[in-house]
Amino acid sequence: MVQKKRIGIMGGTFDPIHYGHLVTAEAARHRFELDQVIFVPSGRPPHKLSHQLTPAAERLLMTLLATVPNQNFVVSDWEEKREQISYTYDTMLAFHQHFGNEAELFFITGADAVLEIMQWRRIDELTDFCSFIAATRPGYRLDDFQASPKLTAKLFFMEVPALAISSSDIRRRVAQGEPIKYLLPETVEMYIYKHGLYKEEKN
Ligand code: NAP
Repeated sequence: MVQKKRIGIMGGTFDPIHYGHLVTAEAARHRFELDQVIFVPSGRPPHKLSHQLTPAAERLLMTLLATVPNQNFVVSDWEEKREQISYTYDTMLAFHQHFGNEAELFFITGADAVLEIMQWRRIDELTDFCSFIAATRPGYRLDDFQASPKLTAKLFFMEVPALAISSSDIRRRVAQGEPIKYLLPETVEMYIYKHGLYKEEKN
């Protein structure tokens, strides 16, 4: 019998991508025996429509720069290219249709995002063809989190110490002239300074 391919879809705003994200993807790849992790920088995420995000094309470029050294990581511009709001259901359905039933899909993201997951569009239908890996920061507590039985069966939590690094802290550091070296790949650091990103604190 042919083994199903196991594909991780790493969803996030990645504004900017940092070592916490990269360590999360690599840890998920190892623990869940994934053949490949596809990074999908969000286009217009539904919960951030009023936020001033860095343009999706720039977040995509930084994600490309960061993932080049890992042969198991690839980047998709699927959400970046879409005009519409990026619901995870639509994104995962597109990947499901692309890979067919020969692949098992795992959506990887931060546990903070997953806390609201029961409000996500068509979440119970999504569990028909997708599992979820939620990365937590050390000391993270999930006391009040409740999910439907269908989702609970498909949701895995994974503690990632490197997630002490956060995109919001990196943006704040750049705006305040503090160093960001060793928090993210050097190529991404260079891109940020070369293009003058995060000079002002926005949100
Ligand atoms: P967020 O709300 O900005 O992030 C929540 C937390 O998770 C932050 O601490 C963030 O850290 C962390 N995080 C985000 N992505 C991560 C990843 N891939 N690995 C590890 N930690 C991660 O979340 P977001 O980035 O905007 O959204 C996460 C994903 O959920 C996106 O793909 C988004 O489209 C999806 N989502 C879908 C719906 C929906 O379909 N209705 C609703 C909400 C979110 P950093 O700030 O350091 O990244």
